[in-house]
Amino acid sequence: MTERPPAGPGGDPAFPGRAAVTTHGPIVPLWTCGGCAAPWPCATRRKELRAEFDGAPVSLALYLGSYLVWAAEDLGHVPAGLLHQRFLGWVR
Ligand SMILES: [Zn+2]
Repeated sequence: MTERPPAGPGGDPAFPGRAAVTTHGPIVPLWTCGGCAAPWPCATRRKELRAEFDGAPVSLALYLGSYLVWAAEDLGHVPAGLLHQRFLGWVR
């Protein structure tokens, strides 16, 4: 049983019961975007996350790190380096 990552400050559509603030949430276990079908986190979601975690890059990295661990379980065929780049490579 996988422990799900914590939701962000604005809630998360991946977690029922929490308020959704974006249509660009991950569709698991495929990890494509529910809003635009791009690999998640898509460009739109990345922009939203930057805004949600404005001034808190460490918190954003921890948040995405939780997703990375979760996604890695579903996407075992994807090289870890690619997943890391996809989830954390854009956080600066
Ligand atoms: Zn999207």
